[in-house]
Amino acid sequence: MEYTKPLPAVNADNEQFWKGCADHELRFQKCTQCGFVRWPASIICPECHSGDTELIRANGKGTVYSFVVYHVAYHPEFKDDLPYVVALVELDEGPRILSNIVGCAPGDVACDMPVEVVWEDITGEWSLPKFRPLS
Ligand code: ZN
Repeated sequence: MEYTKPLPAVNADNEQFWKGCADHELRFQKCTQCGFVRWPASIICPECHSGDTELIRANGKGTVYSFVVYHVAYHPEFKDDLPYVVALVELDEGPRILSNIVGCAPGDVACDMPVEVVWEDITGEWSLPKFRPLS
């Protein structure tokens, strides 16, 4: 079935992240000067302004920092998913990324709930990181 929802907007900074997702890996820039792991990707460290960086692979685990339950589809292609959860997931390595919580009822989602990444292969090229409760 054709995927009709919006696709990631790739640029030079986030390209490595999305390539990692295609390989089912969460890759982030880590500053080699101060150790800060950053998201969104950027050309310099927001903490110390160094341009020295390495890519790290996150372990895919974190906790729900905040979340909302969508009961209205603000894009028509999400209508069949209602109600669904949009959450800010704080990863063990530090970055907070926006994603969906899947694998449980929206009413079961809570702040500080442990979650782990699960991959949704949306096209032959793209995979999206989603999160489910850590069992
Ligand atoms: Zn830094």
